[in-house]
Amino acid sequence: MKRYQIDENGFFGRYGGAYVPEILYKCVTDLQRAYLPILESEDFRQEYRALLKDYVGRPSPLYPARRMSEKYRCRLFLKREDLNHTGAHKINNTVGQILMAKRMGKTRIIAETGAGQHGVATATVCALMGMRCEIFMGKTDVERQHTNVERMRMLGAEVHPVTTGNMTLSDACSQAIRDWCCHPRDTFYIVGSTMGPHPYPDIVARLQSIISEELKWQLQEKTGRDWPDYIIACVGGGSNAAGSIWHYLDDKRVKICLAEAGGQGIETDRTAATMHCGSEGIIHGARTLVMQTDDGQIKEAFTISAGLDYPGIGPMHAHLAELGRTRILAVNDDEAIAAGYELTRLEGIIPAIESAHALAALKKLSFRPDDIVVLTVSGRGDKDIQTYLNRKDMAGEYGDF
Ligand SMILES: *Cc1c(COP(=O)(O)O)cnc(C)c1O
Repeated sequence: MKRYQIDENGFFGRYGGAYVPEILYKCVTDLQRAYLPILESEDFRQEYRALLKDYVGRPSPLYPARRMSEKYRCRLFLKREDLNHTGAHKINNTVGQILMAKRMGKTRIIAETGAGQHGVATATVCALMGMRCEIFMGKTDVERQHTNVERMRMLGAEVHPVTTGNMTLSDACSQAIRDWCCHPRDTFYIVGSTMGPHPYPDIVARLQSIISEELKWQLQEKTGRDWPDYIIACVGGGSNAAGSIWHYLDDKRVKICLAEAGGQGIETDRTAATMHCGSEGIIHGARTLVMQTDDGQIKEAFTISAGLDYPGIGPMHAHLAELGRTRILAVNDDEAIAAGYELTRLEGIIPAIESAHALAALKKLSFRPDDIVVLTVSGRGDKDIQTYLNRKDMAGEYGDF
């Protein structure tokens, strides 16, 4: 396991670390010292597990998808994170981090959000715990994702539109870090993916690892063995993927295929495929792969999927891909839309467009009929209906309605 996990300095191989301004140094080192003892304490585990069960609705089902299995000639199982409270895997992480914030005596919560999913999951647990909540969101995203903004406000959060840069997720992250610099004592920053300075990538991966923990006993129950031949997931920052593969990293029988957002194509400038197009750099406190210009300016990411719209990638994934432990596929907007329509019509499940990227990967792989394939449906598509309808041209045989 060690080979794939974080070392004592907070690095996954060459990637990771904590590149933060001086003023956050104490905050970050306090968290580095505190997080493992908290996560491993009996008291935390009990409260976390109870909330996952009774509030989030876990375990999430592992659904044998019959018609999709026929189509792709394998035994396909869908891990249904879309059925969680608030509609995605993000809540697994925010429930854990708010319990951590409470134990560290923090009274104010901040978070960044792109599509608004992490903002909603954070505002939700703040309402649950009666904590003050402020969310940073690019102004472009505030306009694009209006319902999620209304949800956050209804939950009692204050939403700050960010007007720097391209006014999207990357700028919201920068603004959240600036706010944290101004309030290091009372504020806990709930990071939404396996990104940011050490220890965040490790915290988020551990909190999401409940996904693969459940997979083990669910597969045992349904197939008679506790491992699949393939795990497929989408990657933005990498949290649902990290959680889906965590307990299988050392098991070489399990092939891991991750789908990043190709946007309009990795050969164009309009892409978010960081692992195909990025180079080593520092973004939001971590050394990792970044999409940047030759002189080191961070480039804007482009994809139809707001949740994958990030010019960096979690350091853990940069490392795993470099070691060849994971295979990274780029999935373009059109392919994702088509895959989303297909799942909708073959199984009656409308996936988030992020998750549709993982589904599109099925077409790029070839299976044996007895292969057990687990695909994580990271979220539901309610937020994306308009985007799907605008691209009915990609629905093929399913677009005639
Ligand atoms: C945020 C989000 C993602 C991407 O984030 P990861 O950290 O890479 O998992 C994927 N799917 C859904 C539904 C999301 O909300």
